[in-house]
Amino acid sequence: MNLEQYIRDIPDFPKPGVVFKDITPLLNDCDAYNYTVGQLLKLIGEQKIDKVIGVESRGFFFGMLLAQKLKAGFIPVRKPNKLPHKTLAQSYDLEYGSDAVEIHADAIHKGDKILIHDDVLATGGTAGAVCQLVKELGGEIVQCNFLMELTLLNGREKLDGHPVASLLKY
Ligand code: IMP
Repeated sequence: MNLEQYIRDIPDFPKPGVVFKDITPLLNDCDAYNYTVGQLLKLIGEQKIDKVIGVESRGFFFGMLLAQKLKAGFIPVRKPNKLPHKTLAQSYDLEYGSDAVEIHADAIHKGDKILIHDDVLATGGTAGAVCQLVKELGGEIVQCNFLMELTLLNGREKLDGHPVASLLKY
């Protein structure tokens, strides 16, 4: 199945000059998203995963589906002030300014084997911050896993040498 046909380019979203990769056509088609889950699982192979992290918000969709198939727990990493319990935060630089992500402080136990999933790896700022949170909580990152990787932006370089896998490369 050619998954690229289910991902559409939206020019000038969310701001002028950005071409946004929209995965909603992929979510809209049961065969396409089931196939995608199977392909993402192949990237993980037989590696043991205790918890899957899904990054707000588009990382939640496939992150939860992967967690179910892997018989793993699911952990949402969210934008600031969205999680209700005690959190750990990590900020990261944007082109202009900075942003942050948060995780519940009790979500990871020391030594948990963690899969980090998001829809897109762009500059790597977001996933790099998530790696930092996992490290601080004592988790072991097995793989950083993405639907898409925008290779020209070299996001992999921000992921501290952790294994990176992506289904589609642009
Ligand atoms: P990064 O921090 O620059 O690697 O950007 C990755 C984050 O931005 C992820 O959480 C993505 O969901 C989001 N993102 C960046 N570019 C796109 C895109 O073209 N489509 C959908 N999400 C994107």
